[in-house]
Amino acid sequence: MTMFRQGRGTNDSGPAPEALRLVGVSKTYGVGESAVTALDGVTLALARGTFTAVMGPSGSGKSTLLQCAAGLERPDSGIVMVDGTELTGGGEAELTKFRRGRIGFVFQQYDLLPTLTVAQNTVLPLKLARRRVDRARAREILTSVGLGDRLGHLPDQLSGGQRQRVAIARALVAEPRVIFADEPTGALDTRSAREVLGLLRQAVRAHGRTVVMVTHDPLAASYADSVVFLADGRRAGELHAPTVDTVAKRLAHLGDDALLGV
Ligand code: ADP
Repeated sequence: MTMFRQGRGTNDSGPAPEALRLVGVSKTYGVGESAVTALDGVTLALARGTFTAVMGPSGSGKSTLLQCAAGLERPDSGIVMVDGTELTGGGEAELTKFRRGRIGFVFQQYDLLPTLTVAQNTVLPLKLARRRVDRARAREILTSVGLGDRLGHLPDQLSGGQRQRVAIARALVAEPRVIFADEPTGALDTRSAREVLGLLRQAVRAHGRTVVMVTHDPLAASYADSVVFLADGRRAGELHAPTVDTVAKRLAHLGDDALLGV
């Protein structure tokens, strides 16, 4: 990590660094007349061990925020820090290494490799990062997400909810500082969605992970500790201890009634 700048607060005596800090992050796609400003100076600090939902109308910059925060996209300007380390300072190789070591991902479409078993998919991030593979620990995590009897199954032998639970186990096994989830329940029925959301909350409560989740769904957001709203690439308020009702009301105030029907 020597090529990354360390932020303040990483020394032993100082306060623990936030899990995630964005300072004035901007990102524009395209040039000239077709340029679209996806993020326009977003500043955000999330403490360790918190579960945050990011919400806003379609096109408000949620996915871009997640991509920049996770080091998958580089912002045009601004600073991104994960766990006290600046992502925006280093080269591509360091970034990839950092991502593999400290960041977990859960996507709507699971992104499991179809030819690998549940157990093999779960330990893949460790293999890619050339880290020691603790199979007993992987089994333990898979058991904790209710898949202890599915270790040898292939993804297409599983339901959508089970596949997403594999994706969560895969994110957890590397013991990342931050787990980024992009619409993790978007393809699931309500019951499976609740199970997956419960597991994400469990990762925060029981294991001290930090979860940042983009969602359209007030029910999903109600599992988070707080919600950050975006509109037109900017922060547009936040909500602590959200409930389905308070989230839905706030979304209505953001002026996108269509979201309420999702
Ligand atoms: P959301 O996730 O809230 O729907 P996005 O972050 O996907 O919003 O997109 C924000 C804006 O940036 C949108 O206008 C979108 O069309 C644009 N955008 C996002 N990604 C790209 C890209 N790779 N190329 C061009 N425009 C993009």
